[in-house]
Amino acid sequence: TTIGSASSVAVIGLGRFGTALALELMAHGTEVLGIDSDEQVVQELNGRLTAVVTGDATKPELFEQLGLIDFDRVVVAIGTDVTANILVTSQLLRVGVKDVWAKALDERHALILDQLGVGHVVRPEADMGRRVAHMVRGALEDFIEIEAGYAAVLLEAPLSLLAVPLRELGLQAKHGVGIGAVKREGSWILATIEIRFERGDLLLVHGPTSKVEAFAASMA
Ligand code: ADP
Repeated sequence: TTIGSASSVAVIGLGRFGTALALELMAHGTEVLGIDSDEQVVQELNGRLTAVVTGDATKPELFEQLGLIDFDRVVVAIGTDVTANILVTSQLLRVGVKDVWAKALDERHALILDQLGVGHVVRPEADMGRRVAHMVRGALEDFIEIEAGYAAVLLEAPLSLLAVPLRELGLQAKHGVGIGAVKREGSWILATIEIRFERGDLLLVHGPTSKVEAFAASMA
């Protein structure tokens, strides 16, 4: 089988987060091996992932059986059982899986994963909480921190920025932010220096998180 090739991903722990991740990978043509200790969870996903296996991922035998060593990318999506999460993650690192992604439950857990040397620590609840906070405050239509310290947000074009070419607004000099694109009447347009914002435009603003937040606040 092709499962285990460089283009495939193993997802360990098929809770809400792991399942959503695995199905999204499948939808975009990536082969996915799913692993979960719960038989019922596995049965539910049978046929929807390239392969699904029941097993306790903390057991080294399973690693060998499934050839997890041959996967370039493995995601540890075990959530609530922090011990299992850390055990599995450290084993993946020990056997030399190149690209390990692990979900952290909280800040302290994230710290441990960082110290283990995990390349990508994800905090879905924390990230989503921050994202929704910006939306609930009403300042932004959407907020995504691409990595710690750099964000992209969706902001309705402030009236003070309308009708003047982007070049003349001096946003980069004045606010330290860039405009990547504009959504106008349902379609995305790449922002050129000549673009003039219109009432109702949605701006894709990006830059250092603090600058983007300050810019949005100053425009509110
Ligand atoms: P979420 O918040 O994303 O739903 P959960 O922690 O509720 O995350 O779910 C994680 C999944 O990981 C569960 O389906 C659980 O059965 C599975 N799981 C927990 N421990 C192990 C383990 N040692 N090996 C494999 N799967 C596990």
